[in-house]
Amino acid sequence: MSEKFDVIVIGSGPAGYVAAIRAAQLGLKTACVEKWKNEEGKGVNGGTCLNVGCIPSKALLDSSYKYHEAKEDLGLHGITTSGVELNVSSMIARKNQIIKNLTGGIAGLFKSNGVTSLFGTGKLLAGKKVEVTDFDGKVTIYDAENVILASGSSPINIPPAPVDNDVVVNSTGALEFTEVPKRLGVIGAGVIGLELGSVWNRCGSKVTVLEALDSFLAIMDQQIAKETQKILTKQGLDIRTSSRVTGSKVNGKEVTVTYLDKEGKEQQETFDKLIVCVGRRPFTENLLAADSGVNLDERGFIFVNEQCETNAPGVWAIGDVVRGPMLAHKGSEEGVMVAERIAGQKSQINYDIIPNVIYTHPEVASVGKTEEQVKASGEPYNVGTFPFAASGRAMAANETQGLVKIIAHAETDRILGCHIVGPSAADLVQQVAIAMEFGSSAEDLGMMVFGHPTLSEAIHEAALAVHGHAIHVANKKKR
Ligand code: FAD
Ligand code: AMP
Repeated sequence: MSEKFDVIVIGSGPAGYVAAIRAAQLGLKTACVEKWKNEEGKGVNGGTCLNVGCIPSKALLDSSYKYHEAKEDLGLHGITTSGVELNVSSMIARKNQIIKNLTGGIAGLFKSNGVTSLFGTGKLLAGKKVEVTDFDGKVTIYDAENVILASGSSPINIPPAPVDNDVVVNSTGALEFTEVPKRLGVIGAGVIGLELGSVWNRCGSKVTVLEALDSFLAIMDQQIAKETQKILTKQGLDIRTSSRVTGSKVNGKEVTVTYLDKEGKEQQETFDKLIVCVGRRPFTENLLAADSGVNLDERGFIFVNEQCETNAPGVWAIGDVVRGPMLAHKGSEEGVMVAERIAGQKSQINYDIIPNVIYTHPEVASVGKTEEQVKASGEPYNVGTFPFAASGRAMAANETQGLVKIIAHAETDRILGCHIVGPSAADLVQQVAIAMEFGSSAEDLGMMVFGHPTLSEAIHEAALAVHGHAIHVANKKKR
């Protein structure tokens, strides 16, 4: 007879491993199946996020920023540097060590929580059975009361720029360059394209970003998007919107890209490396037997309801493989919710309050509705903004670019959204997310005492500015 689990999770990215740990904490007999192999051919947990996503990209962003600072910015503080050099292989090795530590950490957490870790490819069969094919090809079938599908996503490939993992790479390849490319092309000015473009720009590449859409960061608050575009352009990123890539030709160690410009005219540009960052798609290859009973939606995501239940009773799906923003923390919270619902709790997620960050320098972060969304909804609203140029703490740190923007309902004053480009935007926006979760008004936030001098004071002032009460800047709205 095959071994039976209360919960089998397929996929150990931030959605799957969190679901497995929470399920085990709740006393459920839990296993987690993972097919990812490291360079030594050993199974590792952590998925895209830990191996080729959030963490490695942030490691390189931090290293490259320190290099940039040492070379360009320290003089301002009276610090003289000379002979500053970048050792790319050390930078990559540091990143790899962080991955090793963190993925090893998941193995430790599984052990301490009593999660059974299974390495191999998991497939959902009919009747909540899971077939696991291990790395040696051995097949074992397990029974489960509940199955959680957390198979994640993979980079989208586009026919005009096929990835050869040498000159033309996707985001994974861009984390492994062995030297700084002189001319770097990036297709797609999305979150990943801007982060990876920033890494190599700071290291010395001449970076050109080709974006098909005519507006930059089209789904973000446009005031913040415009400010971001200005800042990144000043840093040296050559961002070309209305530039749809239609072809590419690799010639030895370089690639010539053809794209259509605003007027529909064909243009060409040659690069030493090209990163294709045109988005990610749900990954369901070899995941579902034909009679598993699980449906996909028209875009290939596993179809789920608000509680992450699929069409098949007892089968759930979470993370990038289901609708919603492709963000690690969104998947993790779905993992917690599903584990708790399996254990009989009534957990839910507030999908309206999920922060989103671009880890450029300065960071760009948002939560809730953009001004464009609020305007389109017809709700009456007020806006308060505060520039970091007026923040004492930002001045002390020489981080005066950008602003905080808070949007509140004009009648209830409830905060509807917060959008920031500026220093530590990721951590600042979380403060507003907490306030929003508790139904805070802009006035509530304005009445709180903020420590001085802090970057957080910019949030306080933006909240005050909603009603024309900001102290350290002239108010647009007069009271
Ligand atoms: P994944 O992390 O993709 O994990 C899925 C796992 O399932 C994989 O390990 C896969 O091997 C395994 N799997 C799939 N099918 C099977 C099967 N049949 N059997 C066994 N195992 C299987 N998000 C953020 O929130 N913040 C960031 O800063 C951020 N930066 C990013 C930077 C980059 C360069 C990239 C590429 C992504 C970034 N993301 C970021 C997105 C984030 O990585 C994803 O949203 C997150 O990893 C999704 O988690 P997941 O668990 O759903 O899927
Ligand atoms: P994201 O989905 O946030 O990762 O962003 C991917 C970006 O790539 C989007 O802004 C797309 O408009 C852009 N994109 C997709 N296809 C092309 C293409 N052929 N040429 C240029 N940009 C593209």
